[in-house]
Amino acid sequence: MAKIIDETNKNLRTCRRCRRLFEYMNIGYGLCPSCAKVDNEAFRKVKDYLMEHQTATAQEISAAVGVSESAIYQYLRDGRVEIPENSPIYIKCEMCRADIRYGRFCPECAVKAQKELNKGTIAIDIYEIGERPKQKETGKMHTYKGRNRSM
Ligand SMILES: [Zn+2]
Ligand SMILES: [Zn+2]
Repeated sequence: MAKIIDETNKNLRTCRRCRRLFEYMNIGYGLCPSCAKVDNEAFRKVKDYLMEHQTATAQEISAAVGVSESAIYQYLRDGRVEIPENSPIYIKCEMCRADIRYGRFCPECAVKAQKELNKGTIAIDIYEIGERPKQKETGKMHTYKGRNRSM
C-alpha cells in the first residue's frame, strides 16, 4: 500500500471541530489533542455498543449511546468503525459512489485522487480509504445502477 501522507512536512492542521491550529501527528483523526480526548470517550461508547449489536444503524447507535449520528458517520468516514459485510446499507465513495464499508474513497479512486492531489495541498489519509464489500453471489437478481463499466 502506497503511503499517501507526506511526512516530510511539518503537518500543521486546523482542528476540524474547534478550528484551532495544531501539529498533526498522524493520530487523532484531524482533531486537536483536547478535542480528540472528548471524541475518544464518545467513540468508545459507540464501539462497545457495536460489539453487541453488529448490524445496528447509525440511528440506533445514536439513540442507544447518545452520540450524534453525524459523529457516527464521521467514525465511518475515518475508518474507525466498519459496516459489516452482510449489511444491506453501505456508505458511498465520495468520487464514484461505489459502496464502501468505511472511509471516504474506494481504493481505486484513492489512487486516482492521490495523483490529482499531489498538485495541491490536500492529502488523503490512509484511514480514509475504505474497503469495498465483497459482492455475494446469491443467485438473486441484481441491479447495477450506475455501474455500466467493468472495473
Ligand atoms: Zn479541537
Ligand atoms: Zn470510488
